[in-house]
Amino acid sequence: MKTLQRTLTIVKPDAVRKHAIGDIIEQFEKNGFQILCMKMLEISKHQAEQFYAVHASKPFFSSLTDFMSSGPIVALALEKEDAIADLRKLMGATNPANAEEGTIRKKWATSIENNAIHGSDADDTARFELSFFFAGYELAQ
Ligand code: UDP
Ligand code: MG
Repeated sequence: MKTLQRTLTIVKPDAVRKHAIGDIIEQFEKNGFQILCMKMLEISKHQAEQFYAVHASKPFFSSLTDFMSSGPIVALALEKEDAIADLRKLMGATNPANAEEGTIRKKWATSIENNAIHGSDADDTARFELSFFFAGYELAQ
């Protein structure tokens, strides 16, 4: 039996500055993702640190959290069969130098940090990340 899965994606500040919101959302829809909920917002450095807590010990943590709090972002809850893996495929590699043709990062990322889009990487992180941006009532459908 096929089961629907949910994942959290973010159009990052670099992509918002490039006016890529529409193009990226079009990719979600063309690739079979249902948009359950979507919001544009800015997060503080502290909020970015909470969201990316898993990377707290990494050398890029401070720079990453500065970047993620540098301007508006768009957070979306997406639903599809195999949503987590399929979104990761559509995103492309973290480093755009390694991203395949046709991926969102190949088209919009400018560096390993300014890489246009976030996507949850597993069931447990998707649950945490969806609940970070969306309340239960917003996803109750
Ligand atoms: N990042 C960075 N330098 C690195 C690796 C990652 O600035 O060497 C940033 C980049 O924006 C990336 C985010 O940190 O998207 C989270 O890293 P992760 O390894 O989880 O990559 P992702 O899951 O986003 O592909
Ligand atoms: Mg990740």
